[in-house]
Amino acid sequence: MAERYADIIVDISHEKVDKPFQYRIPPELSEAVYPGVRVHVPFGKGDRDKTGYVVDLSDRADYPVEKIKDIVSVDEKGVTAQSSQIQIAYWMKRQYGSTMIAALKTVLPVKQQLKQLEKKKVTACLNGEALYETAAQCEQKHQTAKARVLRALAEDEVLPYELIRQKLHVSPAALLALEKQGCLKIETEYIYRNPVRHIPGEEKRVVLGEDQKRIVEEVLRDYREGNPGTYLIHGITGSGKTEVYLGIIEQMIAMGKQAIVLIPEIALTYQTLLRFYKRFGERVSVINSALSAGEKYDQIRRAQAGELDVIIGPRSALFTPFPDLGVIIVDEEHEGSYKSESAPKYHARETAVQIAAMSRASVVLGSATPSMEAYYRAKTGEYKLFEMSARHGSSTLPGVYIVDLREELRQGNRSVFSARLRDLMERRLEAGEQIMLFLNRRGYAGFVSCRACGHVMKCPHCDVSLSEHRSGKLVCHYCGYEEVRPATCPECGSRYLMGFKAGTEQIEEALHKEFPGARVLRMDGDTTRRKDSYEKILAAFADEKADILVGTQMIVKGHDFPNVTLVGILAADLSLNQNDYRAGERTFQLLTQAAGRAGRGDKPGEVVIQTYQPEHYSIVHAADQDYKGFYEEEITYREFMQYPPIAHMMAVLVTSREQESGRQLCGQLAGLARLERDSRNGGGHTLQIIGPTEAVISKINDWYRYVFYVKHKDYEQLVTVKDRMELYCKDREKEIKNITVQYDFDPMNTY
Ligand code: ADP
Ligand code: ZN
Ligand code: ZN
Repeated sequence: MAERYADIIVDISHEKVDKPFQYRIPPELSEAVYPGVRVHVPFGKGDRDKTGYVVDLSDRADYPVEKIKDIVSVDEKGVTAQSSQIQIAYWMKRQYGSTMIAALKTVLPVKQQLKQLEKKKVTACLNGEALYETAAQCEQKHQTAKARVLRALAEDEVLPYELIRQKLHVSPAALLALEKQGCLKIETEYIYRNPVRHIPGEEKRVVLGEDQKRIVEEVLRDYREGNPGTYLIHGITGSGKTEVYLGIIEQMIAMGKQAIVLIPEIALTYQTLLRFYKRFGERVSVINSALSAGEKYDQIRRAQAGELDVIIGPRSALFTPFPDLGVIIVDEEHEGSYKSESAPKYHARETAVQIAAMSRASVVLGSATPSMEAYYRAKTGEYKLFEMSARHGSSTLPGVYIVDLREELRQGNRSVFSARLRDLMERRLEAGEQIMLFLNRRGYAGFVSCRACGHVMKCPHCDVSLSEHRSGKLVCHYCGYEEVRPATCPECGSRYLMGFKAGTEQIEEALHKEFPGARVLRMDGDTTRRKDSYEKILAAFADEKADILVGTQMIVKGHDFPNVTLVGILAADLSLNQNDYRAGERTFQLLTQAAGRAGRGDKPGEVVIQTYQPEHYSIVHAADQDYKGFYEEEITYREFMQYPPIAHMMAVLVTSREQESGRQLCGQLAGLARLERDSRNGGGHTLQIIGPTEAVISKINDWYRYVFYVKHKDYEQLVTVKDRMELYCKDREKEIKNITVQYDFDPMNTY
């Protein structure tokens, strides 16, 4: 029998996941050794006995065979929380194509010291005058650090200790000395460990409706019968899905089980979290990007220790190691942010199903506009489908108008606002009601080009045009490169270098011009770069400090503004023109969500969709809020083209420092895929290979990009091809420096 080898990480609980070491699997252990198992191995010079975890298996030795030691035995206390996490990582590595280390890093929490359960502050004990005086005395004695802190305290009576240490560069000794002198006090404040603090108020309990009760009962009945499934709840916003989640979780907790609730970060609003806290109290926690690594690790440790029942968070909360997981909820399952953009490029929905299968838990997906994947699987019986149609509360569906922008132009209207939209906006402004304007682009998306010679200003590092910002700078949205906008064309010297403005900034400008009295807020990638600015803009709009909110897709998610009675979608087809098989789906979702923003309160709402393609099915069905109509047309297109979810598709992206080597490797890998295709007698189905070609964006950050696609009905067939390519690259590791190969299964967009 051929030798087999295992990659083993010794002491995985380290601060970081280290490089694995390869060991031989003795034949008598071949059955017992698989990823996740704990084993004893000889380690280091003295061959000391150590325990480690098997993370990967291989038929090939990566080192000279005589240097490889044998695994001694399998640890009897074998299965731990880490074992199952390693199994998940191993599954992700295989399923999505990445290194095992990258997969482990995604799954395993990085052990971190929780630095601050306490926070120190420094308070002045003298008045300002006395502080300045003492500072002057210190300066004479050349104690400049002491002088700095005294002056700072004269300005602000209380300062964080950290800030003084790090920004004023004052030593602890100097601070202690000043405390002894009676100039200041150092105090310690304890901060709560729960990232969401004290929750006020009592929950008002609702009595579940018939349809809600039926879902809760069916999910739990299957679970109790030892037959947990995957369920899709299709229900418009406000139909009561969250109440269903709460009902399921409540009963799971009563059985001693725990729940993971995935919510896209952008929809993790204070309001939503509050509902969970009010229902489940202190045993709920949140993971979000505002937490430090130490705080995140602390939440995970608490989950592992049985101190939590529910964890809420975006994608990464999926890997919370609960002792007895009962259910994973994936709210807004259609959201693109559930797909990881770095290797392993996993999808949280599919990974949730896998994790649930391993822990015998249920999965509940919810959406007003389900992904094609989820709805297709629900239709084919892989998931159970529940439809919820009525809205709870007083709100009603808005009235929707589609405006043909070509017609507007024919009528001589050159404004970005159609006559209909302008008319409705004026009425809202008069009535003191609020308006949301939605544009599916950010910044001055428009490029700058020369009207004389046609030259387009491009990023020197990326194959994309630069965008003009109001500051007068030209900015690359891929790498951040900036340059000052030249006055004349660098090619021909003409002065007619013009920007094609079509972004939120331009809308804002147009509003100031055409509705001079209106108060406008803008929200896009540029105004929300700072962490809290997103919340601040929304809060200001909720407080009615503005009449109009202009923004990109981030304004259409999740938030309820009862005073918004008009939503304008300025150019609905910008997202259709992307060269991408998911463009129709994304447009439908965006429009449906945007339309759903209008009329959330007592007043009825209206929606204006401006478009150049008024007859496009994504737009027509979104205007009718007709999901099923959209699904039927979209699935026909996917069927015809053999795109996901009908078939599976793997993108292979090769990026390289040097153009020719990347092009060559991409060609070789595509050749390998073609060999694989020709060698198979695939029962009725064959592998389809598209490409290789230059990627749509052929260069980013000075890395050249080549791509090809492989399609097949059967996912496993693609995995096999991917495995072959991985081996091919591994064999040539030395030659292919400065080249990366990335795999993306069922990609969210084309490359
Ligand atoms: P979704 O998650 O589908 O958007 P929610 O669960 O948030 O819907 O419900 C929308 C609103 O209707 C909430 O304010 C919720 O409290 C209320 N609601 C939901 N179900 C009921 C019910 N059975 N009886 C009364 N109010 C309900
Ligand atoms: Zn020119
Ligand atoms: Zn760039």
